Amino acid sequence: MTRRTALEPLTGLVVDRDAERRARPELFDELLADPATRLLPLWRGKALTTTAEGERALDLITPDRQTAALLRVYLGRTVASGIPVIAVTLTDAAAVELEPDQSRWVGLREAGADLGEVDYALFVEAVAIANWHESHTHCPRCGTPTVVEQGGWVRRCFVDGKEVFPRTDPAIIVRVLDDADRILLGSNAMWENNRWSILAGFVEPGEPFEAAVIREVHEEAGVVCTRPRYLGSQPWPFPASVMIGFEARAVAQGEVPTRPDGQEILAVRWFTRDELWAERDDLKLPMSASIAHAIIAEWYGGPLSEAPRQGRIAP
Ligand SMILES: [Zn+2]
Repeated sequence: MTRRTALEPLTGLVVDRDAERRARPELFDELLADPATRLLPLWRGKALTTTAEGERALDLITPDRQTAALLRVYLGRTVASGIPVIAVTLTDAAAVELEPDQSRWVGLREAGADLGEVDYALFVEAVAIANWHESHTHCPRCGTPTVVEQGGWVRRCFVDGKEVFPRTDPAIIVRVLDDADRILLGSNAMWENNRWSILAGFVEPGEPFEAAVIREVHEEAGVVCTRPRYLGSQPWPFPASVMIGFEARAVAQGEVPTRPDGQEILAVRWFTRDELWAERDDLKLPMSASIAHAIIAEWYGGPLSEAPRQGRIAP
């Protein structure tokens, strides 16, 4: 099984979203008649997963097992094996009817780190588009209930013809370093005690990502940074974000003072690699499947569960 790391997401596409096929009027009839097609059942944001020999996988079901679906979305075809996959969201009753034998309903956060990259990509896509449908049931112009078209990728208002397309909220996440190559971590007011991560925040309308990086770091930590450099991205459908990872450098030299905003961020601190290692029993860091973890680990120079390597040269 291929494990993912959040900073190498585009080594190759694993799901071809097959967008040109979405417009076919008989799309779902054609797909359901194809014995290769598989359904990805979603119930309250959870998917069916199986675990065999410690490996977790999505339990995709054959079209003949389909029950009444609240929503169907054509996710596309897996690139490696060309399997068409339809996400189906289920009512409570349908979920019980599908009662798993060996499978379990599991959320994306819980399953994320254990799934292979194809299953992870399908699960993220399914949850993200299902979340959008759930919160966009009516026309934003006139309030009429909209209907689903284009294989689940558009909602249309039949009163004024408005088409509503899925949205994703961009949020930047940034590794700020000082001139001693220390990393800036913050502790969020919403988190448990002594949990630390790199800073993050939503991009505002009309704002370039790079400007959002500089603004958020100043707002949350009182640190002026410069030269944001793109690192990678990770969809984060809780409920509708994509995290856009950056590195930036503090402008001030030497001991750069910090000033947590006191609202969202209660504490900010510069860490050396040795401090991160020495305090590992007390510090709670981001979960391994997250881009925050990957960005910290890349700076650290290896797994956070191991002592830092010596003789590293700062970039
Ligand atoms: Zn309307």
